[in-house]
Amino acid sequence: MTFPLFDAPEREPSQFVGFAGNRIDRQSENRSDASASEALAHAAARVMLVRDGKLLLKVVGEGFDGYHSLAEAQTLKASIDGAVLLGFTDGAPFLAALGGIDLDELPETIKAIDYRSIFVQGLLPPEALGAMAQGAALLAWHASHGFCGKCGAATEIRAGGYKRHCPSCGTEHFPRTDPVAIMLTVTPDRCLLGRGKHFPPGMYSALAGFIEPGETIEAAVRRETLEEAGIRLGRVVYHASQPWPFPYSLMIGCFGEALNEDIVADANELEDVRWFTRDDVFAAMAKTHPDGIVIPPNGAIAHHLIRHWAENS
Ligand SMILES: [Zn+2]
Repeated sequence: MTFPLFDAPEREPSQFVGFAGNRIDRQSENRSDASASEALAHAAARVMLVRDGKLLLKVVGEGFDGYHSLAEAQTLKASIDGAVLLGFTDGAPFLAALGGIDLDELPETIKAIDYRSIFVQGLLPPEALGAMAQGAALLAWHASHGFCGKCGAATEIRAGGYKRHCPSCGTEHFPRTDPVAIMLTVTPDRCLLGRGKHFPPGMYSALAGFIEPGETIEAAVRRETLEEAGIRLGRVVYHASQPWPFPYSLMIGCFGEALNEDIVADANELEDVRWFTRDDVFAAMAKTHPDGIVIPPNGAIAHHLIRHWAENS
């Protein structure tokens, strides 16, 4: 057998987005109900701590470390009973837990910083940023699934944090990942970007929306683009995906070919939506656009969709 088996890029586009750098070996096939407690007993265990949508970072010189030893985590009142096992690196287990300490009681050496700032400002290396997406998403799911959706009884954490069990009715609940379609609609020389009502000044981005039950990715891309901009799409092509821990989504990035160019914007969803040329996009990326237009930062999947189109077609 010879490779490649099919015509695919040597490097996957998803490798280049933020939150994609997780290198932890999940060892999902080995998880048991004792996984988290056994991992915590390991001398080299490292624990990531979250609190109120923020990560508790250890100040190390000019930078930050996203992990704590078990002893350090306990001084920050970590909720060890609810710890989830992310996986292993070089034999050492990595976990995530809620930090119980009040944020105004944090020692000088610990800073609580929200996920978005950590991502945008590049405060952690890609590996730790990816692990943060895993831990933050899992802990957020646990925080909102303490009770059985079927019978209402309190549920119990199992399988290292990858399951909750209802002792009353026996139902097993599994962590969710919510798919979101994010799409760049293109013509031979223009791409479609919109402005949400809460975007920073001047920012335009690819359109996006949740994929609904019973919908393919392509159908969701076509529906959202028609609803938000009045543009009908022909061919839709998948490009890359991005874990997005707000709280536990997977952004699925696609390109769509526009069949019409007369925009009918949905004023409830968007403040503005319009076509941009490649020159517009290059100026926005360089922050030199005469109208002050910018696009999302490098690391955001929208940035990669826009840049890929501008540079490759
Ligand atoms: Zn139940």
